[in-house]
Amino acid sequence: ECVVHWFKRDLRTRDNTALSRASKKAEEGGVPLVCMFIVSPQDYEAHLTSAPRVDFELRTLEVLKADLEELNIPLYVTTIENRKDVPKHILEKCAEWGAKHIYCNIEYEVDELRREAKLTKACLAKGIDFTTVHDDVVVPPGALKSGSGNQYSVYSPWFRTWIKHVHEHPVLLNEADPISANPLSAKETFAAIFASSIPSAPPNKSLTEAERKRYANYWPPGEHEAALRLSRFLAEKIKKYKDLRNFPSLNSTSLLSVHLSSGTLAARTAIRAARDANSVTRLDGGSPGITGYISELAWRDFYKHVLCHWPYVCMSKPFKYEYADIEWEYNPAHFTAWCEGKTGYPIVDAAMRQMNEMGYMHNRCRMIVGSFLAKDLLIDWRLGEQYFMTRLVDGDFASNNGGWGFSASVGVDPQPYFRIFNPVLQSEKFDAEGEYIRKWVPELRGVGGKAVHEPYARGAGKEAEGKGYPRRIVEHKVQREKALERYKRGLGRG
Ligand code: FAD
Repeated sequence: ECVVHWFKRDLRTRDNTALSRASKKAEEGGVPLVCMFIVSPQDYEAHLTSAPRVDFELRTLEVLKADLEELNIPLYVTTIENRKDVPKHILEKCAEWGAKHIYCNIEYEVDELRREAKLTKACLAKGIDFTTVHDDVVVPPGALKSGSGNQYSVYSPWFRTWIKHVHEHPVLLNEADPISANPLSAKETFAAIFASSIPSAPPNKSLTEAERKRYANYWPPGEHEAALRLSRFLAEKIKKYKDLRNFPSLNSTSLLSVHLSSGTLAARTAIRAARDANSVTRLDGGSPGITGYISELAWRDFYKHVLCHWPYVCMSKPFKYEYADIEWEYNPAHFTAWCEGKTGYPIVDAAMRQMNEMGYMHNRCRMIVGSFLAKDLLIDWRLGEQYFMTRLVDGDFASNNGGWGFSASVGVDPQPYFRIFNPVLQSEKFDAEGEYIRKWVPELRGVGGKAVHEPYARGAGKEAEGKGYPRRIVEHKVQREKALERYKRGLGRG
């Protein structure tokens, strides 16, 4: 007999709600804990999971396997080609190991909820106790309602209620109990699992050797790395976070999104640590850097709540139906130029190249390139949303969808459609010295001063052309008017 914990996007041993409960159950029953993870190439395909992200998960699983092994806990990892077979495979393994209890943390996307519903039914039929718990978010979806009893669709009042709720339920920030070691005999019983290795990435998500090295260098895996990054950020950067977080050249944010999205760090852990670094215990007082950071982490909760309450956002539909009828352009040359960072707008190009190289883009730049795609190129924001998923190492459906909905003015609590970022002004404001641009666009490294923001318009055309930097593919002024007209027309029809 044994208890099973099914790892998904919670790849850590510490402060993990379901794992902690599974461990307790095993200890109480005097039986071993067995952990499992399933590599599902069809899920990767369906969700456009990027190859760097899959690589990060697999590297993290190595760390996790070693950590668990120290506690005599086996981690079984296998690849299941057909995603419909995942529940069946879990049950087969449970039968083989004699498991009577399965634990996992809930994932809130539609496909995952359906899969869990299927597994719940199958477990019931087999007399297995299947426990799913909230862990990915600090406040469980459904817990917060506005005065009129509805779900919030605007962030600020939602955030005030979120803070109040956490203050009233301080237990939400408590650390989950540490897990206990299995008896030594588990080493022998599960020798085959201990001896097995982590599978390599499926062919549809493989990286070249050079890419693997590059991503491993940018994003060291595992929960220890996450904890280290968090403590360094708290010690060195959080106090100035609010003032500096918008400047992409300053490296002033936590760079923890990859860990939060794969669960090598829990949002709860990060918020608790930020709170403990503050001079007050309230989440909305003391250091503005700390409260600012907590508010950003809360956006992550917000978008997951949105996903649960309006699951149609998982189905390529904009949050508000009246935004569904905008007429988009499908210009493949423009889209390719955007993807490759060759639009002739230096800040846009720098940002896209940062993402293509690192699997990461600064938040300010995500908003700039999102707005540029929808309102300067007039290209359907969903193509941008999808491209991001195929590139980001921190790709997370809810945050990505929420961010795109915001930038393209079609989502929940969006930027109003008539607020159209001017990419040159954004560049001058948030990358005044052009450091970020010169870092990511080598063709412009020799361009001095302000000309870096628009080389062809400010006398550096020869230099830019000589190095092969493209001219603008569209004129912002012209496109802006078109965008306003299209959005208005779309709204009129909706
Ligand atoms: P920090 O500034 O240190 O913030 C701390 C944490 O708070 C982040 O790690 C993240 O978990 C959370 N957070 C911060 N801002 C947001 C936000 N606007 N929405 C939701 N959570 C937030 N974030 C992802 O994790 N995955 C995505 O796929 C993703 N796609 C995005 C797409 C667009 C178009 C936009 C505008 C934003 C997107 N974001 C996404 C949100 C944000 O850009 C990143 O979380 C952030 O840049 C990560 O860097 P960091 O860890 O240094 O952030």
